Amino acid sequence: MTTDADRSREIETALTAVRDRIRVAREAAGRDDDVMLLPVTKYFPASDVEILHGLGCREFGESREQEATAKAAELHEKFSDAPARWHMIGHLQRNKAKSVARWAHSIHSVDSDRLVDALQKAVRAAVDDGERTTPLDVLLQVSLDGDVHRGGVEREDLAALADRVASCTDLRLAGLMAVPPLDADPDAAFADLAGLHRDLLVNHPEATQLSAGMTSDLEAAVRHGSTCVRVGTAILGSRPIASPVQTTDHTSHN
Ligand SMILES: *Cc1c(COP(=O)(O)O)cnc(C)c1O
Repeated sequence: MTTDADRSREIETALTAVRDRIRVAREAAGRDDDVMLLPVTKYFPASDVEILHGLGCREFGESREQEATAKAAELHEKFSDAPARWHMIGHLQRNKAKSVARWAHSIHSVDSDRLVDALQKAVRAAVDDGERTTPLDVLLQVSLDGDVHRGGVEREDLAALADRVASCTDLRLAGLMAVPPLDADPDAAFADLAGLHRDLLVNHPEATQLSAGMTSDLEAAVRHGSTCVRVGTAILGSRPIASPVQTTDHTSHN
């Protein structure tokens, strides 16, 4: 039987190891800027998020709207002394924009005009209703292989989508996110992404964030300028089998 104390120790050990990996990767890359660790807590219970919070984590990534909405609500009171920031990193359907606008600090998976418009409207409404006070940070998810079924805007459409976000009063264009194509060499994929980010920065110098790297490839991402690694498995363990990295939400209908 696993006790709460066992689970705490397990998570603490894993978190320390991931922080070490990031530090070593930064040093190897000769970087002295920060790389944020975003623990990804999808599929894991609120009690694990509490353990991470107790270990100093204040930012959490979630990829499934319903689960995240419930967890953010459950932990809101508990974290009132040291509030957490929630980041939506998975595919979002437009009809869920309203819900996410109430709890998310950022969304890393914006890939269409229609989603931008829905988010702008939803954040505006949340501000008007006193449910939030800040704009929503938006990272554009770019498809590196053009397979839009896996989510992400095609590179040809990236500049126009960035302009659209930048023109929204309640959204803040924060940067780019990508997941390497299946079977791709992560170094090549993240080098490609870094090039797209450099191009974006020409017209949008405020879009400094680069959300790249997960459990298996964070070192390569840090080598290529990642400012935020999204790590689930290496911190919390394996998720249920039917839960690959999910940028497309197969669990919800419509
Ligand atoms: C689940 C998920 C992660 C975390 O992946 P791990 O391999 O478990 O570290 C990162 N990014 C996205 C978009 C995810 O859905």
